[in-house]
Amino acid sequence: MSKKLNNMLETIRMEAKYTATSTGREEFNERVMQAMHDVDRKNFVSKNYKLLSYDNGPLPIGYGQTISQPYIVALMTELLDLEPEHVVLEVGTGSGYQTAILAQLAKQVYSIERIKELAESSEQRLKKLGFNNIEIRHFNGYYGWLDKAPFDSIIVTAAASHIPNDLSEQLKPGGRMVIPVGLPYMPQELMLVNKDINGETSVKSVLDVSFVPLITDDEAQEE
Ligand code: SAH
Repeated sequence: MSKKLNNMLETIRMEAKYTATSTGREEFNERVMQAMHDVDRKNFVSKNYKLLSYDNGPLPIGYGQTISQPYIVALMTELLDLEPEHVVLEVGTGSGYQTAILAQLAKQVYSIERIKELAESSEQRLKKLGFNNIEIRHFNGYYGWLDKAPFDSIIVTAAASHIPNDLSEQLKPGGRMVIPVGLPYMPQELMLVNKDINGETSVKSVLDVSFVPLITDDEAQEE
């Protein structure tokens, strides 16, 4: 294993310990850590930032967006408790890095991205890397993906001012959603939404985070 990748995994393990009192997860599942090892972040980072591929920080991917910090990617994945037969919805494909991690652990991943260029480049990248259980679409994911619903898990990788109702509705009973909630450029909270078998949802704040905003209006996608 390359030394830098090893350091990245060690940093994730350390951060998991530091944040355990908030997240309730002192150690991440070995399947999650294996996926973080197997999906090479270098393949998702833009040319100018390759040297920083394994640093535990977000990096620009163009269009004012960022590839998320590895620890946050691992944490959000961990919180979903994915099983190999799960069907997952992701809102905010971005670079496709988180998408690839999810695809290692679940049966099928549906991912939505509102910036056409990112949707197209990530689709090509993931195909080239050999993923065949990912479907990416270019539209506004604020309303979810009704045709493919319901989902075992939903992950939103941009911060919303509130938990979108359509997303909660597209979650299966027993399902989980992770979503950063808060105003742009203000402290945001990573929320874990649990839907019980009777369809009742409960929400728990997990950690303070910082994400690019989730765009909610339909017109914005036509920019
Ligand atoms: N997980 C990605 C994060 C990308 S940043 C990665 O690690 O690369 C968040 C992404 O969400 C951006 O690409 C942004 O364009 C997208 N986004 C924001 N609002 C959206 C919406 N309403 N529907 C779909 N995608 C959205």
